[in-house]
Amino acid sequence: MARTNIRATRIKPQVSELLTLRVRRTERISPHFIRVTLGEGDIGRFTPMGYDQWFRLFIPAPGKPLPRLPDRLTMLSYAKYLTISKEDRPALRNYTVRAYRSAEQEIDVDFVVHEPKPGAAPGPAIAWAGACRAGDQVAILDEGVSFNPPADTEHVLLVADESALPAVAGILASLPDDTTGRALVEVPSAEDVQDLRVPSAVEVTWVVRGDPHAVPGRAVLAAAERIPPPDGPVFGWVAGEQALPTAMRRHWITSGLPKSASCSAATGGQSADDDDLRSCPAAPGPAADLRWSVLQVAWCAA
Ligand SMILES: Cc1cc2nc3c(=O)[nH]c(=O)nc-3n(C[C@H](O)[C@H](O)[C@H](O)COP(=O)(O)OP(=O)(O)OC[C@H]3O[C@@H](n4cnc5c(N)ncnc54)[C@H](O)[C@@H]3O)c2cc1C
Repeated sequence: MARTNIRATRIKPQVSELLTLRVRRTERISPHFIRVTLGEGDIGRFTPMGYDQWFRLFIPAPGKPLPRLPDRLTMLSYAKYLTISKEDRPALRNYTVRAYRSAEQEIDVDFVVHEPKPGAAPGPAIAWAGACRAGDQVAILDEGVSFNPPADTEHVLLVADESALPAVAGILASLPDDTTGRALVEVPSAEDVQDLRVPSAVEVTWVVRGDPHAVPGRAVLAAAERIPPPDGPVFGWVAGEQALPTAMRRHWITSGLPKSASCSAATGGQSADDDDLRSCPAAPGPAADLRWSVLQVAWCAA
């Protein structure tokens, strides 16, 4: 195997601005997914980028309007956001564009309904998704696309838990038709399996967790570890709860991935690049959702 010398980095949107949108409708599409469709307001200024395009979602505090919010999330603007009183401060979370329909001028966002920890209340995002009504307002800050393989990539290996299913769906729908590879996606139940638009030579494997007490990501990790190491150029992308990308990286290293494989990692959407897979950092940043991360690795055979 040899070094690829190509770095993968996030593709940022050309313009960073806060868009205020309204809920058009919601649907419980399966036992563990709520789809919220957003439109109206500033939707005309949304620029779809495909792949795993994601955004910061500001959810108003219960019974409060959205306060003035930043057009870009930096350390400084995040610090300012934190000065908003707790009662008025909107919740800030990261979500993926599951689908964009230009004719209807609307965006679907799929929220995973996580199994609650004993005694724990649901987080503000999933609580909002379950209770919101048509006309309710939110604001989004487009953050662009994380999936960014080398230009000549033909073969992909995608590994995801259910919270990264919207990202995998977007990536598969955006990849060129002649892409080959595999996508492994873990879902909590068989009813959560979705119909995806997939290039014909990409094989999708659904890994159904079944056990509600099992740790998300473990089952898909085990399935991905059983795949023999590819012997040609590959772009590997793994996303979900941080333990999954971390364990996948460990596996790829122990199964012979070159030390110098080009690598990029992101935690809560903040990215960092490194030429060395072993030291490729997870990069915390403003509003980091430290439990969630993406790891991308490009490698090729010697
Ligand atoms: C770039 C990016 C894109 C993302 N896209 C999506 C998306 O499209 N759809 C989606 O559902 N999520 C997505 N996520 C993950 C999502 O941002 C987090 O799961 C988020 O923390 C959920 O917010 P919450 O308010 O519901 O729960 P939080 O307040 O963050 O957490 C409350 C409790 O909910 C449970 N919980 C929350 N998240 C998870 C999880 N991922 N796995 C297991 N238990 C969890 C835990 O018990 C936690 O203690 C994305 C994350 C990133 C960084």
